[in-house]
Amino acid sequence: MEENQYTANSKRYENSSLIYRRCGHSGILLPKVSLGLWQNFGSTSPFDKSRQILHTAFDNGITHFDLANNYGPPYGTAEETFGTIMERDFRPYRDEMFISTKAGYDMWEGPYGNWGSRKYLIASLDQSLKRMKLDYVDLFYTHRYDPHTPLEETLQAIVDIVRAGKALYAGISRWPLEALKFAYDYLRERDVPLLIYQGRLNLLDRAPQEEGILDFCRQKGVGFISFSPLAQGLLTERYLNDIPQDSRMKENRTLTADRLTPELIRYLHTVKSIADSRGENMAQTALAWILEQEGVTSTLVGASSAKQLMNNLCCINSASFSEEHLNILG
Ligand code: NDP
Repeated sequence: MEENQYTANSKRYENSSLIYRRCGHSGILLPKVSLGLWQNFGSTSPFDKSRQILHTAFDNGITHFDLANNYGPPYGTAEETFGTIMERDFRPYRDEMFISTKAGYDMWEGPYGNWGSRKYLIASLDQSLKRMKLDYVDLFYTHRYDPHTPLEETLQAIVDIVRAGKALYAGISRWPLEALKFAYDYLRERDVPLLIYQGRLNLLDRAPQEEGILDFCRQKGVGFISFSPLAQGLLTERYLNDIPQDSRMKENRTLTADRLTPELIRYLHTVKSIADSRGENMAQTALAWILEQEGVTSTLVGASSAKQLMNNLCCINSASFSEEHLNILG
């Protein structure tokens, strides 16, 4: 028998009435806290730690795992890590999981490894499926808006991917409102309804609300999932006093120290005082705030340890915010 064989926690769905929300007007329920594999799952991260985070997620009712072709680092290796764990541990549970991947950023050299062409999207998903050792993904996203490829070409590729059974549902990430409206109509007319929009919404970034994206999704019955809900860790206690050695900011890749302006630090202390008065830590309060915004289906957290993930899960039990706290948070 293989060493460390994985058996999922038999109590993983006990809290399910609290954990899941319906994704727009669809048959799919998603956990309020989903797990993203952008960072901490590439080949540069310790495999056993990544594996432990994935086990902890599934053992606690997190059924949605979000990937992309370029997650790592290096690119592709988060999907490979996930594929190894799929093969070793998760295969018996595949039908209990909702797995997404995306294509849209620079993935391979030459003119066909980037953006939104049919050639790129279809080839990229085939590569992702191989890395993840899957026959299909549950959800395939175009990862970003491509101003140069006709939207019809990108969207028809998605329709054909779904019709070919390589993805069960269609998603869109980071498209501007007008393009989103076009996509919604195009996909609906072809009976491949848009399941979900993935955008950055957190206490420090309200763009999907300000631009009308969240409202549009809510009105049309499209789900919304918020990425980087903790602003890559800013909305936790991690940076209140200094920059910890083992932090994402110390890596200086996607989160840099110039974010820590005096104004931001003041706001973070405000969030901290509200979290204290709610008997929570900052991550819980920041996630609870997102889940209270109308139209939000799920938050897509990252975590560099199983402990962080467990802490983030506590937000599913958070109380509603008082008017006073909402006003202070802005
Ligand atoms: P978060 O905002 O949740 O940031 C995660 C980081 O915050 C962790 O790596 C950790 O930092 C810190 N953290 C998390 N929980 C805690 C805690 N309880 N206490 C203290 N620190 C904590 O999310 P990400 O930026 O990682 O993004 C999440 C997912 O969103 C991605 O994996 C991806 O799936 C998706 N995404 C999608 C994008 C898109 O274009 N569609 C773009 C970006 C992300 P540390 O490592 O320092 O410990």
